[in-house]
Amino acid sequence: MVDDKRMHKIPDEVEYTDKHSDDFRGDVREHGFQFVGYDWAPEEEQFKIYLHYDQLYYWKLAELSKMGKGFLDGELWGTKCPKCGDKFFPPRVNCWNLDCNLEKTEWIKLKPEGHVHTFTIAGWSGKSSLKRLPFVLAYVVIDGCQTAVANELRGIDPWDAEFGMPVKVVWADPKDRRGTITDFWFEPADGWKPSPMNPEKERIKELCQPVYEWVKTLK
Ligand SMILES: [Zn+2]
Repeated sequence: MVDDKRMHKIPDEVEYTDKHSDDFRGDVREHGFQFVGYDWAPEEEQFKIYLHYDQLYYWKLAELSKMGKGFLDGELWGTKCPKCGDKFFPPRVNCWNLDCNLEKTEWIKLKPEGHVHTFTIAGWSGKSSLKRLPFVLAYVVIDGCQTAVANELRGIDPWDAEFGMPVKVVWADPKDRRGTITDFWFEPADGWKPSPMNPEKERIKELCQPVYEWVKTLK
């Protein structure tokens, strides 16, 4: 395991190894879905994330490990097909274009910018996000990729979200990053201005008002 201040203590202190992955079991108390820690083995470039909900879980990012490590470093790593040039984020290990016959892709660092492909306005959510309702969830195409990634679009009134609007990637504080998608979110690109109010935006604004009122009643 790497010496990293962001690494959380794994409860049962079992050293994880690929050989004994089933040994990783802890006496953990149930108190909701919780991030426990991550494990990055630089020599094998293997990234693992530990969570528990009643019992301990982990998942390995395997060939996508560079993406998880990139999140910790505030970098977006996607993949590019050497044959057709298509870029992917979330990354794909093999190109999905039929003509490329599952060509192995190569890692590339992407620009932390993109545009909204589609979005929805959330009026309900899991407990951890209730007080931030209503918020915008967007599928964003990053740096000209062929795939889109879902994440929150912040820094905007929900009725001002637009298809195709330019956005930038904003990173959480390094000490709060976990090697997961929640390490970043989207905000409107610098200089972007919402279009003037129109009947549809007014309608969405009205729909949001009861949600704002309800959120005020939460303790
Ligand atoms: Zn290709």
